[in-house]
Amino acid sequence: MRIYDDIQLDYCDVLLRPKRSALASRSEVDIEREYVFKWCPTALKGTGVIAANMATTGTFEIAQEMQKLHLFTALHKHYTAQEIIDFLKNNKDNQFLFVSSGVSDADFEKLTQVMQSGFINNICVDVANGYSPYLIGYIKKVRQAWPNALIMAGNVVTGDMCEDLILNGADIVKVGIGPGSVCTTRKLTGVGRPQFSTVIECADAAHGVGGMICADGGCTVPGDVCKSFCAGADFVMLGGMLAGHAESGGEMCEKHFQTAEVNFIDDKTCAMAIETKQYKKFYGMSSEYAQEKHYGGMKKYRASEGKVVELPYRGPIEHTLLHLLGGMRSCMTYIGAKRLKDMPKCATFYRVNRQLNTIFGNE
Ligand code: 5GP
Repeated sequence: MRIYDDIQLDYCDVLLRPKRSALASRSEVDIEREYVFKWCPTALKGTGVIAANMATTGTFEIAQEMQKLHLFTALHKHYTAQEIIDFLKNNKDNQFLFVSSGVSDADFEKLTQVMQSGFINNICVDVANGYSPYLIGYIKKVRQAWPNALIMAGNVVTGDMCEDLILNGADIVKVGIGPGSVCTTRKLTGVGRPQFSTVIECADAAHGVGGMICADGGCTVPGDVCKSFCAGADFVMLGGMLAGHAESGGEMCEKHFQTAEVNFIDDKTCAMAIETKQYKKFYGMSSEYAQEKHYGGMKKYRASEGKVVELPYRGPIEHTLLHLLGGMRSCMTYIGAKRLKDMPKCATFYRVNRQLNTIFGNE
């Protein structure tokens, strides 16, 4: 039996050390970078935040808001090929979009239809367990079919597998097993790895063979996204942080709460105050809810690896995105990174036991 003794860390276990910097203001930093890939000959320019290809966040509506700010979206798999083609036809900046695919024959057929439209070049091949033998075979097939495509593939959490995926045709490896906000894989299977350590090891391995990584899952606040870029992530994928907005998928519902306040109707009568709040559903793509909604039921040999939550409705997503980008700019001035690409070079971390003062709540 082998046990790795090295401590494995999550984003909440570290904080960035501020450094003396020549940057006088947040407006002096550049949060965009040019991405040059191992296999795909087309360079991209943007800020490497990607909306997750979950049915609730990889929506056309979120994509439109993301691309305005030069952020990326991996469209979810539950649009039909025709729906995707129709959207791409009328959309201006398809360079910020990824079309998602599983690894089955039907997935390849659908991917072929979308790729043949000629409107998109970026592909996200996504399976829960990237160690499956099917993934490498599928990447080879996709690379052979579209030698100039940008291919992102995952998910894995170890450097050796990142190297394998890249050497077999992936430009970007998606890393993360179990860190997601609505993921229950670790509870069900006991498998996973703390995301901060995953990012450090995988970025180092991927960069060593000319590839890149996308840190997928586990970011709860803008500071986590900053830590992820600083740890070496080229892209950071977000689900929960983008859920619950006007542009997100998921059903809305209203709930009524009895508050402690009372309203007087006259001197002798009073009524309790009722507050109404709006919520939007957010669910894991392997949850029983998702299996029923998108695949007509859960197969007997599978167990749910995701959960359903109802998030307080957050309104239009633009505010959340600007808040995130503001956090990144501020982080860069604190650590003296003028360009997004410089963040890992400028970063030093403290290992911490506690990072937030929660005396007045967690907000
Ligand atoms: P978040 O940003 O919400 O923490 O994580 C988003 C990521 O969680 C997604 O990109 C995807 O990799 C992962 N994810 C989404 N749904 C599920 C699920 O049902 N089960 C598991 N294990 N992971 C999920």
